[in-house]
Amino acid sequence: MTSEAAMKIGFLGLGNMGAPMAANLAKAGHAVTGYDVAGTPAKGVKSVVTALEATAGQDVVITMLPNGQVLRAVYDEIVGHGAAGALFIDCSTVDVGSAQYAHGRAREASLASLDAPVSGGIAGAAAGTLTFMVGGEVDAYQRAEPLFDVMGQKVVHCGGAGTGQSAKICNNMILGISMIGVCEAFALADRLKLDRRKMFDVVSTSSGFCWSLNNYCPAPGVGPTSPSDNDYKPGFAAELMLKDLLLAQAAAESVEAATPLGAAATEFYQAFVEHGGRGRDFSAVLPRLTEMKRGDQP
Ligand code: NAD
Repeated sequence: MTSEAAMKIGFLGLGNMGAPMAANLAKAGHAVTGYDVAGTPAKGVKSVVTALEATAGQDVVITMLPNGQVLRAVYDEIVGHGAAGALFIDCSTVDVGSAQYAHGRAREASLASLDAPVSGGIAGAAAGTLTFMVGGEVDAYQRAEPLFDVMGQKVVHCGGAGTGQSAKICNNMILGISMIGVCEAFALADRLKLDRRKMFDVVSTSSGFCWSLNNYCPAPGVGPTSPSDNDYKPGFAAELMLKDLLLAQAAAESVEAATPLGAAATEFYQAFVEHGGRGRDFSAVLPRLTEMKRGDQP
């Protein structure tokens, strides 16, 4: 990278995702200052002890926070404290309303902003291979593109403010529904005495193929290596899937969209998380379903 392209970046939220993302920006030659309320460090990133110190004078301010409530509180505190003309990018997964709120705060301060949630998990954050789905003005998107290229391998500009979050929750609603569908099929196959490998061989090359089966098979020892081969250690934890399904339901309610299977998947993961699923990969629905009998509640 040329020195002209190096940016001053404030990074707030150095958790499982934020710390490796910030470290990758630093490694690429950007001057990154980081803040996390828990005091977590990130490699190559200058740590500071307040949100305002991480924001003051920066060209770009990136947030990677747990939820919309925290995002709103952080934006209330920091917007207006970057350099004049700073760009604010939120990469957290939050409800569309909170994303709009964050854009609104930035707009009031005449600052450019993007919602840019990610897919690809902790491994993708560490490897710099995330997918970014981005909502906001074209100019802001173009300014941020070099940073997305460092932290990810695919970036899609989805449209105006909030559309990045919309894309994220639509994707994850499909994922939650499809994972339950694949697990139900394996549990049915077991009872029908159909070998799991045979089922995989057929379905992975037939019309039932999908990412949940082909790339992340919930049956141990079948298909590519996945969390099922590691005793269902996450991966993508069931409670994070539940969070995204709840966001999708909140969004669906706000626009009166019919999502009957999204609603059923949300109820299913709610029960699963409350009854032993917390801390397990979201594909651990398969052992739960194999224990259940017709009519049982998850
Ligand atoms: P995490 O809990 O590991 O990290 C969140 C960090 O934010 C924590 O370190 C916490 O201390 C910090 N924080 C909380 N309040 C703060 C504040 N007021 N100021 C500064 N820092 C604060 O979560 P994560 O796994 O890194 O996920 C971050 C976001 O990315 C979430 O919105 C999550 O839904 C989304 N996401 C996670 C994954 C994944 O696989 N983990 C994948 C895609 C998207």
